[in-house]
Amino acid sequence: MTMLVIFDCDGVLVDSERPANRLLARYLNSHGVDIGIDETEATFVGLSLTTCAEIALKKYGVRLPDDFVPEIRRLTAEVLAREVTAIDGVRQAVGGLPGPTCVASSGEVAKMQLTLGTTGILDLFEGRLYSATMVKRGKPAPDLFLFAAEQCGASPETCVVVEDSPFGLQAARAAGMQALGFTGGSHRNHDRDRQMLLDAGADQIFQDMIDLPSIVKAM
Ligand SMILES: [Mg+2]
Repeated sequence: MTMLVIFDCDGVLVDSERPANRLLARYLNSHGVDIGIDETEATFVGLSLTTCAEIALKKYGVRLPDDFVPEIRRLTAEVLAREVTAIDGVRQAVGGLPGPTCVASSGEVAKMQLTLGTTGILDLFEGRLYSATMVKRGKPAPDLFLFAAEQCGASPETCVVVEDSPFGLQAARAAGMQALGFTGGSHRNHDRDRQMLLDAGADQIFQDMIDLPSIVKAM
């Protein structure tokens, strides 16, 4: 069966989570949330900024400024333009896949264009970038993955999602799709995070992107 491979962007195609979360932690500290980088990543990686603001209020009791979303977008874009790198082996992996691909990210399209463009891999996915801003509910709801599949003309049972975050894996399972957990980003540690991603619903975990074609072909 030819599978549609739906890639998450941050932490899967581009190594953006560490610099972005260092910035987010500093911003939260300056607004009264006492939080370090590890807890920031554990709490917020994989979520939209709107959801992050909701969690800041619910979990930490801090109401972030009204301009939180545009301000963090602007600051993050500055940092990522300087610091983002591609995950090793993405071009080779995509080239080795037997079927179509797309990207489905909690970030907005402009952020995907920035990170994928800066790292020289945007041409692999041009015209097939889907954002949580296009649907009602972000991850862990299934909306974004279902929307991406529909846009690509695929049914959920012929889709496999590649994700680095528990919320993304939960979203993939809720969408009725197969799911692979990826631990190759610099914010992930394969031995530390493997079980967490399995618990979130991953069928398999892998840490080297060039292994993806053989994993997908075996599904
Ligand atoms: Mg991610």
